[in-house]
Amino acid sequence: MKSDISTPTSYGTQLIGVVSYQGDFQRHIHMLQGLGVKTREVRNTKDLLGVHGVIIPGGESTTIGMLMERYGVAEALRLHAAKHMPIFGTCAGLILLAQDILHSTQPRLGLLPIAVERNAYGRQVESFEAQFNSPLFGETPLEGVFIRAPRIRTCSPEVEALANFEQEPILIRRGAILGATFHPELTQDTRIHRYFLDMVTAAQLNHYS
Ligand code: GLN
Repeated sequence: MKSDISTPTSYGTQLIGVVSYQGDFQRHIHMLQGLGVKTREVRNTKDLLGVHGVIIPGGESTTIGMLMERYGVAEALRLHAAKHMPIFGTCAGLILLAQDILHSTQPRLGLLPIAVERNAYGRQVESFEAQFNSPLFGETPLEGVFIRAPRIRTCSPEVEALANFEQEPILIRRGAILGATFHPELTQDTRIHRYFLDMVTAAQLNHYS
């Protein structure tokens, strides 16, 4: 059987932008390149030209959000999202996709009708790893790396929970927007990134540009 990481499929035609102000954007880039995908670090609106999908990494959501607003990337991403370009946010990236962030007025994209609470696992278990299953990804469990992770407190019915942990959604999707409360880029398991790249392929076939 092929290992997860050794399958450069048709992703070679894709250019994925990774928001690269702060946080673990390099780990996403490394994983994408391992899958044969072309990547571009996104810091300005011109970096978004020609990308087929965008990843917003984990890090510090207040810093990333402030810089996305300052450089016009936030507004540009809202426009791309309106045209159904796939966007994937992990951890801080998911926080930035949310419409509501409990106890916070920080800048956000507001593309997912959910309410999130930052750092919501409390001090004792600020960071932990846990296995979970999802019917989307077969029998083999996935590894969730949760680092000062948010919890999704409310979720509008049009948001689909693709995976749960302790009965709470941790991987969600609405249309072309995907969000994870954890860090799939910190494992060797490429299944979630490949799921996102399949969303990008589907959007390309629907002539998103
Ligand atoms: N606690 C961070 C925040 O609220 C998110 C942590 C992460 O991305 N690993 O922005």
